[in-house]
Amino acid sequence: LSAAEREAPADPVNAALLRVSRRDFERQRKLPSDFVQAFSEARTVSSNAWEEARANDDFGSFEPHLAKMFDFAARAADLYGYDAHPYDALLYDYEPGVTTAEVKETFASLRAFTVPLVRKIADRVRERGELADPAILERPYPIEGQRAFGLKVASAFGFDFNRGRQDLAVHPFETRFSRDDVRMTTRFQENYLPDAMYSTFHETGHGLYEQNTGSDLARTPLARGASSMVHESQSRTWENLVGRSRAFWAHWLPELKAEFPGTLDDVDVDTMYRLVNRVQPSFIRVDADEVTYNLHIMLRFELELAVLEGSVKVSELPEAWNARVQEFLGITPPTGRLGILQDVHWGAGLIGYFPTYTLGNILSVQLFEAAKAATPGLEDALARADYAPLRGWLTEHVHRYGRMLLPMDLVRQATGQGLSAEPYTRYLSDKYSRLYGLD
Ligand code: ZN
Repeated sequence: LSAAEREAPADPVNAALLRVSRRDFERQRKLPSDFVQAFSEARTVSSNAWEEARANDDFGSFEPHLAKMFDFAARAADLYGYDAHPYDALLYDYEPGVTTAEVKETFASLRAFTVPLVRKIADRVRERGELADPAILERPYPIEGQRAFGLKVASAFGFDFNRGRQDLAVHPFETRFSRDDVRMTTRFQENYLPDAMYSTFHETGHGLYEQNTGSDLARTPLARGASSMVHESQSRTWENLVGRSRAFWAHWLPELKAEFPGTLDDVDVDTMYRLVNRVQPSFIRVDADEVTYNLHIMLRFELELAVLEGSVKVSELPEAWNARVQEFLGITPPTGRLGILQDVHWGAGLIGYFPTYTLGNILSVQLFEAAKAATPGLEDALARADYAPLRGWLTEHVHRYGRMLLPMDLVRQATGQGLSAEPYTRYLSDKYSRLYGLD
């Protein structure tokens, strides 16, 4: 690295390759190898303990392992070093250059907006009932039809099945071995249409990012997404901003109906649009709708900070968790499985990861608005299910850079501004006020 730095390559790809390699190297060598080994062993044991605790709904058996994970996180933060908050050092693994203070500020404004909106929608449903019958999505939808529809939409979005594929797994995810070998997984529930469908749209968004990193970055550490937040902004774009839009269903509903003859005869575009955008406070993060989802993230972020700062003990986490679910969503988890035991992250030592989900939601709207402003006719194209203009803009301004830019530099370059929750809250407010007839 030192020799290469003395040569100071002038071309941007090699300069970035050197910069990022140096950054990765300096960061990794801050952790002594015995620490890395001990952490690695402990997180394997802890992940298994979590799986068992979740199956038995028994937080007590998981608690000592979770305490260890937080302890390792705190020690890692000390080893990495930080200026303002130990959490900054943990966040760096997922969002290099983003600070805890920035996340706190962004989340505070989003929370102040979201909690009253959730209340208003819940009141509206109590007074006037659901917008459409949720049981429609629980009719029998044979898996072959679900698979065919998902693949058709993923291809239309632009996923290249010559350079990637979709397989089955317990949990949907995306991974890549190179930009020319991108794998996604999904799972099917015969009696619940949205699960496979929206996880396919979501993972396709991740996959498009990986397939469209610059070919000049191939086989280097630059050939992957800039950060977890930027990655999630891409999955949410295709899942929510495209896949949960009315324009999407105006085009695709007839195709969906053709996969399931006779099953959706009574469903029109507006009904489908309402069904896939139903807002309902719920216990499980991954099942949450666009409006309530971020509250699930905020409570996890707050609890991570509280444990690191010492204001909440690990043994007090279940109670602190349930209190926040009640405060944010107006419901209390009846079991640990529906509460603190639901997510794999903490047990696997991934402390500092959760905020990137909500930051990704926020960023998706900023990028989408920038794409619309720069691309005349983009919305007409989306209405025709022509996704090339949107994908093209995202490739040009996000995908092709891979890890060349730090996430916040990429945001500024692509949108002309820093990360801001304002476009996102405006999007949620417009969409859901109209849907639920709020003033
Ligand atoms: Zn994702």
